[in-house]
Amino acid sequence: MIEQSILEITSALSRANNIVIVPHKGPDGDAIGSTLGLYHFLKEKGHFVTVISPNEYPDFLKWLPGQENILIYEKDYMTCNPLIENADIIFTLDFNDLSRTGDMQDSLTEAKATFIMIDHHPEPATYAHHTYSDATMSSTCQMVYQFIKKLRAVKSITPEIATCLYTGIMTDTGSFRFRSTSSETHKVIADLIDKGADNAYIHQQIYDTSSQSRLQLLGVALQNLKVNKKLRTAYITLSQEELDKYNFKRGDTEGFVNYGLSLEGVIFAAIFIEHKTDGIIKISFRSKGDFNVNTFARAHFHGGGHVNAAGGKSDISLEDTIVKFNSVLPEYQEQLSV
Ligand code: 5GP
Ligand code: MN
Repeated sequence: MIEQSILEITSALSRANNIVIVPHKGPDGDAIGSTLGLYHFLKEKGHFVTVISPNEYPDFLKWLPGQENILIYEKDYMTCNPLIENADIIFTLDFNDLSRTGDMQDSLTEAKATFIMIDHHPEPATYAHHTYSDATMSSTCQMVYQFIKKLRAVKSITPEIATCLYTGIMTDTGSFRFRSTSSETHKVIADLIDKGADNAYIHQQIYDTSSQSRLQLLGVALQNLKVNKKLRTAYITLSQEELDKYNFKRGDTEGFVNYGLSLEGVIFAAIFIEHKTDGIIKISFRSKGDFNVNTFARAHFHGGGHVNAAGGKSDISLEDTIVKFNSVLPEYQEQLSV
């Protein structure tokens, strides 16, 4: 983000009363952590700030400071639409194309606000007046920290802000193990701990709060794991029936796909989850090394993401989706086989 943009943003912020902050649909730890971190920062500065999430977020995030003030567009669009209409600034965080906001897209497209994008996905769209996009960053939370630093306001990071930003960096880096974790990431994390993020508590809140039924669903997912040794690929399926049997709640399958990737020799993993009411199969892709799952998800499953973590969907049956997946895999034989 160039200095000129920072000057313009500083000036826009000094004039702004109403600010709306938006994460992507199906928000994860980074999306909710970054929006809430920025929310606390801007509130401290005296703005009227609202976080509007396109839809519900997972229960494992329902302890984050300020989460009780998040509005859910899907449930409460009558309240949300006027806020979007009257916003002076709209921050869009952890996504780079308005289509990622689902039903909120129309209302955002019509808004007269100044749009500021902060995001770490490749290939950003051009809707924002100010685009802070950096695909080398571990997470949007790390970028919000850098953004606050660019505004020369690191000193005003409170324990609440630190907690939210720590959470998103932790979840998007798989607890600091993915390649996107840099020495700079660790410096930011160190400073967030100094500023009041209770790291052990945060890890516990996110990772040690499983219900028994979630662990049993993980058992089913692991039973369903299929491996294609030749193409170094593993995938998991979960049908609606299996989800129902184990009382599935949003967020319960978070991280399941990584078990496929943890197998020795596997460099490409996927999970296919049937959502009968939406009529779609939600897919997550993960990879190790250079195999680009962003390209794969865009090419075959209406999705996208990063080189090593992407998502997508399919509107055919679970069985047909798996047939399709297995039939496109050989196209990548050169990259996948040893
Ligand atoms: P997850 O598999 O955890 O849902 O998502 C992994 C990454 O891919 C995240 O960075 C997420 O934003 C991105 N992603 C997930 N689903 C989609 C999708 O349908 N479209 C696009 N463009 N990106 C997605
Ligand atoms: Mn992210």
